[in-house]
Amino acid sequence: MLRFFNSLTRRKEEFVPHDKVVKMYSCGPTVYSYPHIGNMRAYLFMDNIRRTLKYNGYKIDGVMNITDVGHLTSDADEGEDKMLVASQREHKSPWEIAKFYTEIFMKDVKSLNIDLPEHIVPATSVIDDIIAFVKGLQDKGYAYETSKGIYFDISKFGGYGQLGMDVNAKKAGARVEVDGEKRHPADFALWIKAPKEHIMQWSSPWGMGYPGWHIECSTIGKKYLGDYIDIHTGGVDHKTIHHENEIAQSDCLEGHKVVHFWMHLEFLQIDGGKMSKSQNNIFTLQDLVNNGFSPEDFRYFYFMAHYSKQQNFTYDSLMSARNSLRNFKTAVSEHRLGKAVLSDESKEKYSQDFLNAINDDLNMPVALAVCQKLLKEPKSKDVYDLIMKFNEILGLDFEIQALSIPDEVKALAERRWQAKQNKNYAEADKIRGEITALGYTINDKKDGYEIVKN
Ligand code: AMP
Ligand code: ZN
Repeated sequence: MLRFFNSLTRRKEEFVPHDKVVKMYSCGPTVYSYPHIGNMRAYLFMDNIRRTLKYNGYKIDGVMNITDVGHLTSDADEGEDKMLVASQREHKSPWEIAKFYTEIFMKDVKSLNIDLPEHIVPATSVIDDIIAFVKGLQDKGYAYETSKGIYFDISKFGGYGQLGMDVNAKKAGARVEVDGEKRHPADFALWIKAPKEHIMQWSSPWGMGYPGWHIECSTIGKKYLGDYIDIHTGGVDHKTIHHENEIAQSDCLEGHKVVHFWMHLEFLQIDGGKMSKSQNNIFTLQDLVNNGFSPEDFRYFYFMAHYSKQQNFTYDSLMSARNSLRNFKTAVSEHRLGKAVLSDESKEKYSQDFLNAINDDLNMPVALAVCQKLLKEPKSKDVYDLIMKFNEILGLDFEIQALSIPDEVKALAERRWQAKQNKNYAEADKIRGEITALGYTINDKKDGYEIVKN
């Protein structure tokens, strides 16, 4: 049974998709500066869910947005458009900013071997759909116009605050409203009217303007996935503003619940605080590479904590992830040519334990422990094959080691092993010489051998 923690019901629930294909939405990056490894934790989390669904035999139709307009410097609709701030900072157009940072983002996620959604959609590619969405909400009486823009009226939606936002606290704590026309401090912008000098703006029924941030996710979800979305993912920072607002927009337009599982990832921390651009305490993937680590070391680091727990980043902990990964790979390569046999019952038990771990709300630390136990078995190709199956989830690269040994050397090693089994030691030594001449060494192990390049 596949179970995920659903932030909507605040408990672990059995996951069963509505239809044959799982519809999944993931909040994507705001492409206004370098993505950091905290962001990458969010996309490793998405990868973890996608691979787990596939491992369970499901097909996925997944979408991720790219926020290239409309995300203000505060999530609660205050400040300037983040893209504009970056464009002023770097003396480039917002389009150039978006292109530059989208490319870096894509390079990072690819180097982490993240299984990407089927559709990756920039907000600026769906402006007409956004306008139609906002118009729909206005026609249904959920939105009102002020001199600043079109706002969602949260008092019209009884379900506001389902993910835990305390709407009244916001009201009590709000400063004297900047925008006196807003009916409630938690009402949020769907469409923002643009002053003439604003660089990015589009014509709309309400004059020239640009979309609010939350509306892009509801619109892209509707356009690509329809009105029933099985899973929606994002970091916990998006839970009580961005996602409350997405629920309000989507459910009010459709007249029913649209997203059924909300899954949230806890923060990557640094020195006990959230890693974030605004705190100026970020590391990028490139920083890790510059310090001698590989993206895969960080991928393995992700597996070492449950996604629902904060994970503290230090170079020491990354170092220990790297060492574990190296040991893991060495052990796997030793099994590849191992001669022992793993019984069918054992294979079944390990497979089941691994499946139980991932299906229990993506318990990767337990899944890794199952792998570690399996690797302690006598050296056997059966172990290797099982790990390769589990690697559909782990997504680690075992190819490099395997590929770097030419077939000729592998064949010689196998012949030498057979000769040894037949106690034909003279022949075995002769073949060893041939292998050495080709630049490789054979190390005999208890249950097999390993081939190492000299
Ligand atoms: P942003 O580009 O700021 O919209 O963030 C992209 C994704 O990264 C969102 O899902 C955020 O929730 C997530 N995120 C941002 N900071 C962190 C962090 N320190 N740890 C984990 N996820 C984060
Ligand atoms: Zn979103």
